[in-house]
Amino acid sequence: MLIETHSHLNDKAFDADRRETVERAFAAGVGKIVEIACQPSEWAQGEAFCAAWPGRARCAFGAHPEYTRTLAPEVLAQLEGYLAKPCAIALGEVGVDHWWDIGPKESQLALLGLQLPLCAKFDKPAVFHARNGRTPELNAYADLLADLKKWDYKPARRFRGVLHCFSGTWEDAKAGLDLGLCLGVNGAFTYKKNGAVREAAKRAGIENIVLETDCPYLPPEGSRGKRNDPSFIPEIAAMVAAHLGLSNGAVAEKTTANAYGLFGEF
Ligand SMILES: [Zn+2]
Repeated sequence: MLIETHSHLNDKAFDADRRETVERAFAAGVGKIVEIACQPSEWAQGEAFCAAWPGRARCAFGAHPEYTRTLAPEVLAQLEGYLAKPCAIALGEVGVDHWWDIGPKESQLALLGLQLPLCAKFDKPAVFHARNGRTPELNAYADLLADLKKWDYKPARRFRGVLHCFSGTWEDAKAGLDLGLCLGVNGAFTYKKNGAVREAAKRAGIENIVLETDCPYLPPEGSRGKRNDPSFIPEIAAMVAAHLGLSNGAVAEKTTANAYGLFGEF
C-alpha cells in the first residue's frame, strides 16, 4: 500500500470529477490520502472530504504563508477548533515562501509562530512549506530551519514534521533531518533540472522519505502540463525506487512506515 501524504483535492480543478479521481487513486494502489486545507476557506471542505472517505482520508489544517498579510487573528481560533476534530492529522501547510511577494520574513515567521504551538497542544506533526526566492539570499529553507531550532514539540512518533515538496540542497535536507523532519518527495523529483533534489533524497535515504503529489500541481516529468492527482503516486514511487536502487515493494513498505512515523497510523 502507498500513502499520498499531500493532496489539494479540494482545489476547484477537481470540482467536475473529485469522487472519480479519488476512486481512481485507490484503484491504482494508493491506500490512504492526506488532504491539505491550508486556507480558512478550505477548512470545512477538508473535514467534509474526510467524512466522504472514512478510514482512508485525513486532513491537515493550517494557514499557508501566503495569508501572512491577510489573515485575521480571530480566524486562528477557528483553526484550533479544526485541529481538535478526529479527522485532523497535522498542522499545515505552514512555513516560509520567498518566491511570491507575500510579506517580509519576520511577518511570515510570526504567522508560523502563532500556529506551531498547536502541534504540542493537539499532538500533531507539522507539514512545512519552504520555497526559495529568486536570489540566493532569499533562502526559505535557511529561514525556516533556523526558526525551528526553538520549536520544542517532541512527539513519541519518529518525525515531528515534513519538509513537503522538498526542493532544497543536501545541507537543507540534513538540517531538516537533524530537527526530526522527513522529506516529502513528489513529481518535481523527476524534473530534469532537479538533480540536486534527487541527490539530496538519495543521501537522506528511503528511511526519511514520504511520497506526495501536491496535486493539482507538479505532475511527474512525462505528464507536465496536465493536472496532477494521487493516482500518480505509484509512478513517483517507481521513480524513487529506480533512483535509490530499491524495489518498488521496498519503497512502498518504507514510505508507508515513514508516513505512519510522521502522522501516526490511520
Ligand atoms: Zn501543498
